[in-house]
Amino acid sequence: MALEYDLHSHSRASDGTLTPTELVRRAHAQGVGALALTDHDVTDGLAEARREAQTLGLALVPGVEVSVTWAHQTVHIVGLNIDPDEPALAAGLGRLQEFRQWRCEEIARRLEKRGVTGALEGARALASGRVVSRTHFARFLVEAGRADSVRDVFKRYLVQGKPGHVPGQWASLEEAVDWIRGAGGQAVLAHPARYRLTATRRRKLAAEFRECGGEGIEVVSGSHSRDDVANMAELARRIGLYASRGSDYHGPENPYIELGRLAPLPESCEAIWESPRWAAGAGPVPNSAADLTPGLA
Ligand code: AMP
Ligand code: MN
Ligand code: MN
Ligand code: MN
Repeated sequence: MALEYDLHSHSRASDGTLTPTELVRRAHAQGVGALALTDHDVTDGLAEARREAQTLGLALVPGVEVSVTWAHQTVHIVGLNIDPDEPALAAGLGRLQEFRQWRCEEIARRLEKRGVTGALEGARALASGRVVSRTHFARFLVEAGRADSVRDVFKRYLVQGKPGHVPGQWASLEEAVDWIRGAGGQAVLAHPARYRLTATRRRKLAAEFRECGGEGIEVVSGSHSRDDVANMAELARRIGLYASRGSDYHGPENPYIELGRLAPLPESCEAIWESPRWAAGAGPVPNSAADLTPGLA
């Protein structure tokens, strides 16, 4: 049977709600054979995830989801098969974490002006790792009774034009791809249908991404509709990008996406896990302890 790939997921190291161990166990139970852990701007969960994956005989693809500012918009680039210890990648992610530090203080200051007190402490208390994300603010605001759901908080407080919005100052597209490639990884444009872009602008983003050295695009994503999948498959073919597939799982509280419960890639796609660089890289060799980096095992 073909290996079940889920190449986009989050743990408590960023804004997921499961520990890396719990995440890997759940993926295994759901029939996922190869899982990428791709936390936002941080690789802290990878060592633990890799240990559990080794125990279960699941292929853990070391990954990261890098926040990027492109044309005044935030877009996400997933890195797969990265070496998390590579210095330039680690330094780049460190810079993004510094921006996150400042941003969470700024979000709290802006919310305070609207009468929301204690948001900084509240969000920090809900974050178990170094990364404090807007998701943590959203969960705090729901707990504080300011909104009914995380989705509702985003709409009312955290997106452009709303009181708690702080514009991103993330990596450039080129930087993100350079860091990922420099760390031996492959760069994948995450959930491309989710961005508020016209078809023309989306093509421009994908083309620029490829020019920078990007190799893949998420065709099947937890946040893509059936139409999105067909459109992104066509975009992948047009631009010349390998197709990836990932749930973007954040935990069981987000019931609309389950690990591995995804449509297959359309026939017209070339899967990134069948690309030559994937095969040459650290890519998944299940049930083998030999491919594990000793320092991480
Ligand atoms: P940040 O990287 O801190 O700006 O947070 C971005 C994260 O917030 C995303 O990865 C999602 O997990 C979450 N998010 C963004 N927009 C929404 C939304 N409209 N509803 C729920 N979660 C969202
Ligand atoms: Mn997230
Ligand atoms: Mn994302
Ligand atoms: Mn994600």
